Amino acid sequence: MIQKISCLAVALGAVLLAVVFAEDKPKEKEPEKVELPAMKFDDVREIAPGVFFRYSSISATDKTVPFGGSNNIWIVFKEYVVVIDANFPKEAGDVLEAIKKTTKLPVKYVFDTHHHGDHAWGNSVWAKAGAKVIGSTNCARLLKLNGPDEWKKEQDKKDGRKDIKDNELKLVDESFDETHVLDDGTQRIEFLFLGHAHTPGDACVNGSFNFMGHSNSASWIKVMEKAEKLDVKLVCPGHGKVATKDLLGLQRRYFAEMRKEVQKGIDDKKKPEEIAAGLEMNWYKEWTGKAAKENGDNVKHVYEELTGKIDHSKLGFRDVPGGLTPTALKGE
Ligand SMILES: [Zn+2]
Repeated sequence: MIQKISCLAVALGAVLLAVVFAEDKPKEKEPEKVELPAMKFDDVREIAPGVFFRYSSISATDKTVPFGGSNNIWIVFKEYVVVIDANFPKEAGDVLEAIKKTTKLPVKYVFDTHHHGDHAWGNSVWAKAGAKVIGSTNCARLLKLNGPDEWKKEQDKKDGRKDIKDNELKLVDESFDETHVLDDGTQRIEFLFLGHAHTPGDACVNGSFNFMGHSNSASWIKVMEKAEKLDVKLVCPGHGKVATKDLLGLQRRYFAEMRKEVQKGIDDKKKPEEIAAGLEMNWYKEWTGKAAKENGDNVKHVYEELTGKIDHSKLGFRDVPGGLTPTALKGE
């Protein structure tokens, strides 16, 4: 039985999603009970045969928890390994060491779910280890357009990351528009681009980790709906714990309810801060441990979207002529 993994390159939005598909079985069955692994930060678990998940440290509420970059997944094929997300350079080295404890095979590909530093800046570390970098067309474009300036800014920062000072930016080697498949008869990965979400690159986190600065919330909802149609057993989010498929619905509900509340506030002539202060959404706090009203930046982003102040075709591209590729805008 082929182990099927799908990585949703929901480009613009801090979310890689690796989903482990349920094995082929007739539809309309009772949903299978799935046991989720209890994991501590930096733990590695084999969540499906030959599929490993590393849980990186992060907290939306506890400032003493250091940010360990993105989660990572690696899939062991017959002759090589594929890694999901490059992470930062320092963490890329940590992940490489963790991989060596699970297999002697070389890493052939690393997949950037999107262009943000915690997902793509470790590319040079993987390249030195012999890997090719793959990503969606929009991820590749955003990294090429924004990467050099953002990298330099971090290098010039007094308290900037040391691993950025000591490494160099590496761009995507091979990109794809909608789908890219790796299949050797034992494992199968389908990289799917479902539309603009967190960035024109990716889509799902587990917890209060939704940076919305490069997002399109209306399109993000549609992307989650598409992801929910997949036959999914486990969701390995870009940040936060491994979850069942329910996570996709929670993620969608957050944006859908927030858009409704923000629109109500706009109709009542409220300011974004007032709208944020009135956000109840108790279920969100139950899920993430953080109240929705504390995510003022997200409310502001949706406010600006709904009042026409954001041109999604330019988001993350600054004033580069052409903006996003037509593919990225298709999901809108
Ligand atoms: Zn991101």
